[in-house]
Formats: sequence, C-alpha cells, structure tokens
Amino acid sequence: MHDNYLRHLDALKEQNQFRQLPQLIHQGRFIQREGKTMLNMSSNDYLGLANNQALRHAFLNQYQEQLPAFTSSSSRLLTGSFPIYDELESLMARAFRRESALLFNSGYHANIGILPALSDNKTLIIADKLVHASMIDGIRLAQCDFLRFRHNDYEHLEQILQKNHRSFERIIIVTESVFSMDGDCVDLTRLVALKQQFSQVMLYVDEAHAIGVYGENGLGIAEQQGCIDEIDILVGTFGKALASMGAYVVCDQVLKDYFVNKMRSLIFSTALPPFNIAWTHFLFQQLPSLKAERTHLAMLSQYLRNAIVNIFDTKMPSESCIVPYILGDNELTIKTAQHLQQQGYYCLPIRPPTVPKGTSRIRFSLTADMQLAEVDQLIACLQDLAV
Ligand SMILES: *Cc1c(COP(=O)(O)O)cnc(C)c1O
Repeated sequence: MHDNYLRHLDALKEQNQFRQLPQLIHQGRFIQREGKTMLNMSSNDYLGLANNQALRHAFLNQYQEQLPAFTSSSSRLLTGSFPIYDELESLMARAFRRESALLFNSGYHANIGILPALSDNKTLIIADKLVHASMIDGIRLAQCDFLRFRHNDYEHLEQILQKNHRSFERIIIVTESVFSMDGDCVDLTRLVALKQQFSQVMLYVDEAHAIGVYGENGLGIAEQQGCIDEIDILVGTFGKALASMGAYVVCDQVLKDYFVNKMRSLIFSTALPPFNIAWTHFLFQQLPSLKAERTHLAMLSQYLRNAIVNIFDTKMPSESCIVPYILGDNELTIKTAQHLQQQGYYCLPIRPPTVPKGTSRIRFSLTADMQLAEVDQLIACLQDLAV
C-alpha cells in the first residue's frame, strides 16, 4: 500500500535530499548533536533572547499563583479571545503608529490566510521570485492571477505593473524585507514610490527575519527605511528574534475587520495560549530597550561578512546577520559544513532546490549572544580552509 511512498523516499535518499528530524540537545547558545557540542549558527534567535534566564524569571515573577491559561480552548471568534490578545494588539498598533494590529498563530498561518482573504478574480498578485514558501502557498490558495518579478529587480516589477495595471481592480505586491538565504534586503522606498504611481496597488511585506533586529526601536526594515505608514500589509513573526511563537499584521482597521471576517486560517484554528501571548507581550515591550543587542549583532555581522569576502574573494549579497558563504559546488559545501561542525560550529549546507543551482552555500546565522572571540575563531577556521 505504501510502495509508492517508499519509492519516492528512496529517490530522495539517492539524490541526497532525504530529510530527517535531527536529535538535538540545547545548551544555551550551544547545541549538542551525536555527542558533539557546537556553537549554534543555524538558529533564528537573532537577539539571543531564547536562552535569557533573567527575562524568563522577570516574566514569571509578574505572576503569583495565577499564571495565564495554557490553552485558549477555541478560535478567537468563539471563546478563544482573551484580554491579553487585545493588549498586545493595541501595544503593537501604538508602537507602529498604525490603526490596528491582528495576531495569528504563526507566520505560516498569516501568509496562507491573508492573501486568499484579500483576493478575488479581479486581483493580481506580483511576488518577488524568492519569497518564502508560506507566501507561495497563500498565493496558490488565493486562486487569482499571479506573476513573479526577478529578485529585488524593481525595473522588472515596474514593467509588469505597466503592462497589467489596466486589467485588474487590485494588485498586491508581495515581498520579504530580509531574505532568508542571501540575507539581502528589500528597498522599500523604491517599492513605495512604485506603488504610489498606481491607485490600485497594495504592498505586502513579510518582516519575519527583520522584526526586532533592525530599526531604532526594533520594528524592522520598514522602520529603518522610514516607511511603516506606506506598507498596507506589514506582517512579521514572533518565532525568530522575538523568542516566542505567533505572528502579526499591522494595517488599517478596515483590513483587520476584513481579516476577522474572511481569513480562514484565523477563523478555523484554535488561538495560541494566553500564556504564550503574555510572553510575546512581555518581550515586545522590551524591544525599544534592546539597542545594545542590535548594535552588537550588527557589528558581528559586518565583521563576519567582511572576513568571508576577504578570505575567499567571493560575492557577499548579505546586509544582515544571515551570512552566506557561497561555495557553488554541492559536495564541497557538504564537506566544508561537516568540517566546520567538527571544529565546533553548527552550520548547515544549503543546496538546490532551496537555492539556485551552482550557489550551494553554508549559511551562518549570527545571534546577539555570540561573542566576538567566537566569531574570530570561526574566521580562523575559514582561513585554514582557504590555504
Ligand atoms: C519563518 C518564516 C515564516 C513562517 O513563520 P512561522 O511563525 O515560523 O510559521 C514566514 N515567512 C518568512 C519570510 C519566514 O522566514
């Protein structure tokens, strides 16, 4: 009965693309795998908050006996809406100085729900070629017309807009702000200027890798580039730098009302536990005060990016704490990652189809709880590889 599945799995094994859940033991910013302890360079915990015991205690100390509930027991539209949800949404709307915010169970829920809710047969979605799988799935569910523009190529996007804008009542431009494989950034000011040439164009920006990390108050690339007001649908997640779980959109009140009425992944899923929302609320309040973490992370990132460029004389697309070392060849990338793991750095090889052919790479993900000496030791290992 399962023969067909088994054959597919065998084929994946043959292509070296068989995935397995790794067995890991976490020790702060270190990770233990098969008995070996390594610095975790593959996490999304960019601000280094996930292992911060002081924050955890400060959070728990707010409560005496009565902890927030560990389940919401229902969708928010039934009985799963607790006051802490509204408190976090108000806090976020105020921080972003926008009319409203709405919470979701995950970034995946947000991205598969928002686009179908907003789209009809007079809608065109135009997405950056490299957007996250969750947005692609949302676009598929939206069942409207769909085009892609070459990655961060705004002239290409403009051509598509010029050619199509008369045929649609609504056009939604979909992008990320920091892209997860190259660590490069969107130019939101360009996108906003483009959008403003057409009356029916909306901008959808996913800040999953940027919220907490960039901007004076940690509100992301939209804050850094000074255009929060101009992003119609500003999405982000709490599972990365914010060391929690869940996601949000910041938008006009009318769009929030529309999502509450139309968005299936919001309506038909049990809301996150109030305990979880309270933790997110607690951490979001800390965001403006985490400047030292952001500055340290930016310093480490620039240091590693420069070192890789200098050692290997290679391309460096990244402007963020996601730092790729692009080797090109698949086998060499796997071998090099294994070697670095042997040396104590838990970094992973990324190969096609996750990245384009010929750009296999090791992806270093830096976090604010790493020390300069640790990055220096990694750089020394990379130098040994080059000779
Ligand atoms: C991680 C990620 C998501 C998914 O968010 P989850 O909360 O993990 O479901 C969505 N979009 C982008 C760009 C991401 O990197």
